[in-house]
Amino acid sequence: MIQLIRGFKDILPGEVEVWQRIEKTAASLFEDFGFREIRVPILEHTELFSRSIGKDTDIVEKEMYTFEDRKGDLVTLRPEATASIVRAYIQHRLYAVDPVQKFYTIGPMFRRERPQKGRYRQFYQINAEVLGVDSPLIDAELIFMLVEFFKRLSVPDTSVHLNTLGCPKCRPAFQKELHKFLSKVKTQLCADCERRKVKNPLRVLDCKVLACREAVADAPAMIDYLCDGCKGHFETVQKSLKKLYIPFEIDKRLVRGLDYYTRTTFEIQTGLLGAQSAVAGGGRYDRLIEELEGPAQPAIGFAIGFDRLAEIVAANNVSSTPGIDLFIATIGEQAKTAALEWSCGIAVSGIKNDMDFSDKGLKGQMKKADRLGARYVLILGDKEIEEGIAVLRNMTTKEQSPVPVDGIVEKLKLILTAS
Ligand code: AMP
Repeated sequence: MIQLIRGFKDILPGEVEVWQRIEKTAASLFEDFGFREIRVPILEHTELFSRSIGKDTDIVEKEMYTFEDRKGDLVTLRPEATASIVRAYIQHRLYAVDPVQKFYTIGPMFRRERPQKGRYRQFYQINAEVLGVDSPLIDAELIFMLVEFFKRLSVPDTSVHLNTLGCPKCRPAFQKELHKFLSKVKTQLCADCERRKVKNPLRVLDCKVLACREAVADAPAMIDYLCDGCKGHFETVQKSLKKLYIPFEIDKRLVRGLDYYTRTTFEIQTGLLGAQSAVAGGGRYDRLIEELEGPAQPAIGFAIGFDRLAEIVAANNVSSTPGIDLFIATIGEQAKTAALEWSCGIAVSGIKNDMDFSDKGLKGQMKKADRLGARYVLILGDKEIEEGIAVLRNMTTKEQSPVPVDGIVEKLKLILTAS
């Protein structure tokens, strides 16, 4: 039997309802904050990612699904969405209408990481990005919206972790100090960090290997090297979060796995996920639009890990399978034909219903209605059709009442929407 690819997964009915709820919550909340949906392709030119995410990152070095298409062009299944959104902003000159654009998008990403719980090779993210705003107030608003999103989904035990990564003005001095520090502890670093230490020392702070974490415990922190602009920006973000009653922790070691981040960086963590504690991450990327040959516009955004969030939401909900409103149980061909018409008639009014198309007996059909969580069952045999009266059973109270067949669709609509 052909099985799915390692690190990929199916989202089956029963699970999918949680995913739909999360999607709806995100869309409605983000739209309330003035965001509009954007949909970008899953396949892009490899260069878009190698240039934006950074050549020396884990993603670009070893995790991308990259291949030559039939004409020999190098293409990649997107490992994240920000680069594509920025590309679309530049390519369609969306900034010409208004440099300030707020977008959200939801969809699959692909990274060839080692599969484990909470880590997949095709995973889903919910992204929100604000392009063209420099003000630190938007950083606070974005974090506020993210926290509100988790509140609406009743995700317990979340905390906001905040840091700043400075800017090209102040970061080099810090990087120099960090490099010096790392040279002193180099024998304690893992092989990857040994390499990163030269090419991209900031990333060593982010390494998950325990020995590296211990080695960098006393490493210099960006927060102590900020230029006046970055310092002021970070202070306003913190002040604004306090005004919005959003608690946060400063985490000096928080850097992100992608090169393009500047200034404000944040993560939402939850104690519920074990090792993979980050359920969302984001920050400013003030240089990215310009680096991709667009106008010099700042930007900030976040990505929520959909898979991890769905696990938490599912675990916190007693039942994720919403029942149907009505099941039509039929006995005999004539009844079945009539039921089909009624079923279609009420379905188009948005009433969830189902019926049986095999030749199951009444007992079997009642069992199926139970399994589907039907609120009501309409029972209809040839006898009932002849007499012009069907029987409606309330599955909660077990009460049964007669419903005239004449004009039954309208009557069912009334009963089912009223109760
Ligand atoms: P990143 O794009 O790496 O900043 O990640 C943002 C969020 O996406 C993380 O906080 C995770 O929740 C989620 N995420 C990243 N990589 C994976 C993966 N391989 N599997 C599942 N979720 C992931």
